[in-house]
Amino acid sequence: MPKEKSAGAVIYRKEDGKRYYLLLHYHSGHWEFPKGHIEKNETEEETIKREVLEETGIESIKIIPGFKEYIKYFFRKGYGLSPEEKKKAPWVFKLVVFYVAKTEEKDVKISSEHIGFVWLPFEEAFKKITYKNSKLLLKKVNDFISEKNI
Ligand code: ATP
Repeated sequence: MPKEKSAGAVIYRKEDGKRYYLLLHYHSGHWEFPKGHIEKNETEEETIKREVLEETGIESIKIIPGFKEYIKYFFRKGYGLSPEEKKKAPWVFKLVVFYVAKTEEKDVKISSEHIGFVWLPFEEAFKKITYKNSKLLLKKVNDFISEKNI
C-alpha cells in the first residue's frame, strides 16, 4: 500500500490574553491544521516552516519544544475523480506528525491549495475540525499550552 508522510502544526496566537487556533479549509471539504508532504532531505521543522509560509503566508512561527504527536489515517487517493472512479482508487496510508507553534501574525493569505481559513478559540475550533483524531490533537495541544501558561 502506498504511504505518505506529512508534517504540520497547530498554530495559535494570542489576542487580549485569549488563544486562537488557525484552521484551513481543504478542497476535499475538511477543516484541518496546516500541513504538507515532507520533501527529501527536509527536517520536520523545515517542512512545517515551509508549508506554513506557502499555505498561510505566515512568515514567523515559534515551535514550542516538548510536544510532538502523530495522526494516522487511510484514504483513497481520488481528488478530482468521479465517485465511481474514486471507489476503485488505491488506499493510501498517511502519517502526519504535528508540532505546536505560536505566531504573532494575524494576517493570513491562503494559497490555491485551500478554500478558506479561520482563527477560532479552543471550543469553536474543536467543533469546526472535521476529524476526531484532529479534535483530540487540539485538546492535547490546548492542555499542553494551558499547563505552561503560554
Ligand atoms: P497534505 O496537506 O499533507 O499535502 P492533502 O491536502 O493532499 O495533504 P489530506 O489533508 O491528507 O490531503 O486529505 C486526504 C484525504 O484524507 C481526504 O479525503 C481527507 O478527507 C482525508 N483526511 C484528512 N485528514 C484526515 C484525518 N485527520 N483523519 C482521517 N482522514 C483525513
